[in-house]
Amino acid sequence: MCVKYLLSGVFTTWSGPATTNTNIDSYLKGRELNDALIWDHIDLGITKKFLQDEWNKASEQIITPDCRQGVCSQCGVCTSDVQPHFCKEVKVDSFDYTRPEPDSQAKVFFYRVFYGKMEDMRFVAHLDLLRMMQTVMRSSGLPVAYSQGYSVHPKLSFGPPLSIGVEGEHEYFDAGLTCEVDPEIIFDKLKGSFPKSLQLQSVAPFFLKKDRAMEYYPFEKQEVYPETGMAESFQQKADDFNKATEFSFIRVRKKRETVTDLKDIIQTLEWCDDHLHVIKKVKGASIFDILEQVFGIHRDNTNRFRVIRKNLIHELKK
Ligand code: SF4
Repeated sequence: MCVKYLLSGVFTTWSGPATTNTNIDSYLKGRELNDALIWDHIDLGITKKFLQDEWNKASEQIITPDCRQGVCSQCGVCTSDVQPHFCKEVKVDSFDYTRPEPDSQAKVFFYRVFYGKMEDMRFVAHLDLLRMMQTVMRSSGLPVAYSQGYSVHPKLSFGPPLSIGVEGEHEYFDAGLTCEVDPEIIFDKLKGSFPKSLQLQSVAPFFLKKDRAMEYYPFEKQEVYPETGMAESFQQKADDFNKATEFSFIRVRKKRETVTDLKDIIQTLEWCDDHLHVIKKVKGASIFDILEQVFGIHRDNTNRFRVIRKNLIHELKK
């Protein structure tokens, strides 16, 4: 894997042993059968001689008999403690299985599950979180509604994803059930299977499709806690932004460039004692875009900042 990265040039700034004296051609060249291999020191029991013989036999299409039914091929695994193990053949009664036809018209009842994704959980990517919650639903004992098709999975839909490194104080996902269930019962069942590092907060029914749309929460409130000693700079730059009538920048996503005016995206930007308070549209620019464009702090230099999405907002108060 190291070689792959070196060749791809992704880790161009590596220094030290990883980049010194590595001759790629020598590293990738073919090997003689008797050459030393880097994993030779790992003892799995099977001898190198046996594997070499197997290589030669394979090139001549000669099959080694299964030692459980024939003679021992002296592979080296068996000792006085390790011997071939024979399992009894188990007869299984024949049975007919017909997969039930999926009912695409069956009603699904959706419930919104609110939870916190704080501290180290900020490093769990959205896709991993989704898989985690699929497991939570499967193991909850609730009447989970499943998708149809080849890859069957619990019906779940998530709110706007968090960037890696951003904590979420009040996140949610919508879970589909096949019948109506008291939210308190759902909460209790989920509590048993919810990861301890996430904070299960509440469950509420959300049956209407318009309430479950991604656009239901167009705004988000975020807080940024930078390192100490940056208050004055943050205060000054927030003031400059608030005085400006336009604040455009070129945003690059998936190799596409768009000109975005942060004044259209940010509703509130103010410094409060020890943190930056931001209310912004969910779409259009991330909090890291704002830190870079307004405060001149590159993403790489925000690793020690604490960034929290406090909550998603359905409607801004006038
Ligand atoms: S009996 Fe043991 S040593 Fe002989 S071929 Fe089978 S696994 Fe290898």
